Amino acid sequence: MHPKPKGPSSGLGQEFTIMIIPHCHEEPYAFRLSQRWVQWTGIALIVLLLSSISLVYSLRQTKLQLATYHGLLAENRQQQEHILFLARQTTELQGQLAEIQALDNSIRTMMRLTPASVTAAVARPTENPGTAREARLSLLNRGTSLAATILRTQQNIEEIKEAIPETEESLQDLERKVELQRRREAATPSLWPTSGDVTSGFGRRRSPFGGSWEHHEGVDIAAPRGTSVFAAANGIVRVAGWNGGYGNVVFIDHGFGMSTVYAHLHRISVRVGQQVTKGQQVGLVGSTGRSTAPHLHYEVRVNGQAVNPLRFLPE
Ligand SMILES: [Zn+2]
Repeated sequence: MHPKPKGPSSGLGQEFTIMIIPHCHEEPYAFRLSQRWVQWTGIALIVLLLSSISLVYSLRQTKLQLATYHGLLAENRQQQEHILFLARQTTELQGQLAEIQALDNSIRTMMRLTPASVTAAVARPTENPGTAREARLSLLNRGTSLAATILRTQQNIEEIKEAIPETEESLQDLERKVELQRRREAATPSLWPTSGDVTSGFGRRRSPFGGSWEHHEGVDIAAPRGTSVFAAANGIVRVAGWNGGYGNVVFIDHGFGMSTVYAHLHRISVRVGQQVTKGQQVGLVGSTGRSTAPHLHYEVRVNGQAVNPLRFLPE
């Protein structure tokens, strides 16, 4: 193409001719264009170009905004799922706390203790949201549901925060009571102090010395001389030595008002002030003091008062 000025170069009225010359023997084509037409066409092209640039830019912006929107939407879904997850976890925690409280009460019932006075950690279900997807869909339908779930979760967390210290206190109280019960049990004389037959029971009987009536303060268990004698419960040795009619005697204080006496011993194997445990040997069967044959005279005293030892002994 060869834009070719035609005529005088005096500005207005100028014309251009575009000639197309084919590479064969055909006639060339010629277009005659006015200068005004060329100017307008130029302006139109520039406007078109600018519009195109602006359109491309707008499209780009829209695309970016769309990407951001999708990103936010995905983030929003994730957050919703996270909130539902936290809600479920909180409900689960409340359930576990309630189980601990139930266990506390069940142990108290077993041990005949007063029930725990703690705030029950009642799990407030968060409408059982089902799967995260179902929940999200339903939540999308009900815009206020998520806000309600958040509120309920906050309330649940508050309740957990309140219930934990009370439960902890109750469990500590239970631990103290169990420990006390354990010590009381360890202090209860529930063991045969030696093996043998009971030849004389507790209470009124004919004296083996002269046949007059007397009150027998314990039981006599016949056993060969030298048979081991064991502490019937944990305690502290208060007497270990000779004491009149008892002969060689051991007196053990078990605490909780309980004490035991082991008399007519051949040998004593503990000393005063010694701490003894249930089943520990305290001496050997003998016939010292007011005794006719080797046997153990065994007494159990509750608050200083002799009681029937058979009440404490296993069958
Ligand atoms: Zn006796």
